[in-house]
Amino acid sequence: MTVTFIDVPIPEPGSVQNVTPDILWLRMPLPFDLDHINLYLLEDGEHGYALIDTGIGTRRVEELWDELLAKLHKPITKVIVTHMHPDHIGMAGYLVEKFRVPMYMSHSEYFVGRALSAGGRGASDWQDDEYLVRCGMSSEYVATAKQNRKENKGVGQVIRPIPLQYERLQKGDSIDIGEGQWQVIIGRGHSPEHVCLYSEERQILISGDHVLPGISPNIGVYSTEPNANSLSQYLSTLPQFLELSENTLVLPSHKQPFHGLHTRVNELIEHHHLHLDNLREFCHQGKTINDCLPVLFKRKLNSHNLFFAIAEAFSHLNYLYFAGEFSREINEKGQFIFTTK
Ligand SMILES: [Zn+2]
Repeated sequence: MTVTFIDVPIPEPGSVQNVTPDILWLRMPLPFDLDHINLYLLEDGEHGYALIDTGIGTRRVEELWDELLAKLHKPITKVIVTHMHPDHIGMAGYLVEKFRVPMYMSHSEYFVGRALSAGGRGASDWQDDEYLVRCGMSSEYVATAKQNRKENKGVGQVIRPIPLQYERLQKGDSIDIGEGQWQVIIGRGHSPEHVCLYSEERQILISGDHVLPGISPNIGVYSTEPNANSLSQYLSTLPQFLELSENTLVLPSHKQPFHGLHTRVNELIEHHHLHLDNLREFCHQGKTINDCLPVLFKRKLNSHNLFFAIAEAFSHLNYLYFAGEFSREINEKGQFIFTTK
């Protein structure tokens, strides 16, 4: 089965579109190249809607939420956050406060979200500098990044204060929404314990960012855990989706709802293996992480994209290093040099 978008109009920011009689699709704007996030409202009995993800915590998204809530005739009953990235968790605090309802997340996503939004809180940031040096970034880049941290331009700026309580979702759990039961499936690699929800009865998967059509979710290694093997975690949590029905309707956080889950999962696996093959070829003579960017990215990268691109290259190189295929040395400049063995 090929990947096919469902034939319904894409909703304008702040308006809703039915994808099934009891599931509404809406979009909120994002101030990046990827300019939107999809959110879903699931009818939760008579009482209102369970919300999947919340939008980034900007003034614009708050205004759109206020407009939309005035138009919806029912309140929000549950806020479910797939993972802690700011476009997903950003407005959770705002909505949970407004309706005084529970927020559902996995344990890792909840606490990592609280930690990242709180920032360094005075801890020394030499490790953040070192990470960028290890990645082979220029001294200007490292200095600019340091200045941005000092000016507190971190994710905390676009995440509203996170509620001090949550309801835990974990592998094997199910959550009741209206008449339906949704099974929790955990994905790793894009974020630590990403929640996907699957209704076997209805053959619908809410995939968050773990499985996206048209774009490959960012799989990164970041300064908080430079020895992470995120790509291995991602690749090992993709095949479980091949066990779900081939006819599953997938509701992703970006682009459009689609059919063709198995094809898309296999494409994502192949995409990373292709990148790994290209790196095996490219790194016969030792390379820095920065050197490897053109192997993974054909388009020109702006500074926002560059941050994620370095992390993505790092995850592929760490994968090959931990698999024993690459050596990883530190050169006289403090940069990691990865070499095919
Ligand atoms: Zn994400």
